[in-house]
Amino acid sequence: MAKKLKRIGILTSGGDAPGMNASIRAITRKALNSGLEVVAIYEGYKGLIEDNTKLYQIRDVSNIINHGGTILFTARCPEFKTEEGMEKAMATCEKHHIDGIVTIGGDGTFRGALDLSRHGIHCIGLPGTIDNDITSTDYTIGYDTAMNTAIQMVDRLRDTCESHFRCNVVEIMGNNSGYIALNVGLATGSSQIVVNEMPLDESRMFDEIKTGKERKKRHYIIMVAEGVKGYAEDLAKRIPEITGIDTRFTRLGHVVRGGSPTLRDRVIASQMGVEAVNLLIQGKSNMVVCMHGEEITSMDIEYALTLDQMYKGNLKPGALSKYSISTVEEMKDFCTRKRENFASLYNLALDISQ
Ligand code: ATP
Repeated sequence: MAKKLKRIGILTSGGDAPGMNASIRAITRKALNSGLEVVAIYEGYKGLIEDNTKLYQIRDVSNIINHGGTILFTARCPEFKTEEGMEKAMATCEKHHIDGIVTIGGDGTFRGALDLSRHGIHCIGLPGTIDNDITSTDYTIGYDTAMNTAIQMVDRLRDTCESHFRCNVVEIMGNNSGYIALNVGLATGSSQIVVNEMPLDESRMFDEIKTGKERKKRHYIIMVAEGVKGYAEDLAKRIPEITGIDTRFTRLGHVVRGGSPTLRDRVIASQMGVEAVNLLIQGKSNMVVCMHGEEITSMDIEYALTLDQMYKGNLKPGALSKYSISTVEEMKDFCTRKRENFASLYNLALDISQ
């Protein structure tokens, strides 16, 4: 029979993302309304190691749904990966009688949750990162806000490009993933989108800029994912040499990480938060909450992390050995569908870029 939970912890870890506060609010309220107690853990796994915690009441999460960042703060904590770090983290859990934890963050955060689960703490992971780079889910908390912030900024760049007859090469956040670049590139009518996921035909790109010039096009935005390391700034130097068009370089970095979350981020973060508590109440552990299409679902953490390695082409030796042939096929199909969906949107964007 599943162990009955009494007290759960919440932490945010890895990079912050708008909407994390909406999750914290939803988890706290749903847990308290379900008769559970809630311990806020500050600064991710570091706070768990250092016992930087507070027992939360309903009002502790008042007036946060509209705020960016995370009221629990976040930190990277290499010590948590060590045995000594884990011992200290477990001591904090024992001291405060924490028997379940909702961890909000990226794949590193999920690996930490997996370790905690192995030590008997019921863990549920929520995908929180602007990058949308977690393979197991179509959507991560913060993704929509970051893209909406970015399109406002790129629209401004377009205005000035049009006035001056210029090109702007924009490097945009997203870690190694091209999702933000792809969607923001499409939504801002970029002439070209450069991402690691798709091959780039440079000569076609330069020819299209030249053709645009002949047709009196006055503004050009080239959207480059930050994962294509070192490319954007260099491209901004080469475009004037090759096409004769005055070109500037802009880096959209941490500024797209902040700000008030959009409606979509607030709603999905709330739904995911409630789902996490429901899973804990059902006695589930070692799961990540995901979104597939418009549906909130969940998946085993280890399965999700293996899927992630498969999609990103960095499967560890033996990573598939515990899965049956049909499960491995299912994973491969999942990755293929994901790649196809990405490619289809990329080709659509390119098709209408001229
Ligand atoms: P983002 O996508 O924003 O970078 P992330 O969760 O992937 O988020 P990481 O810095 O990789 O960010 O991980 C956050 C924290 O999770 C780490 O600082 C560490 O405390 C813990 N963590 C990461 N990897 C592991 C691991 N292999 N085992 C245990 N804990 C880990």
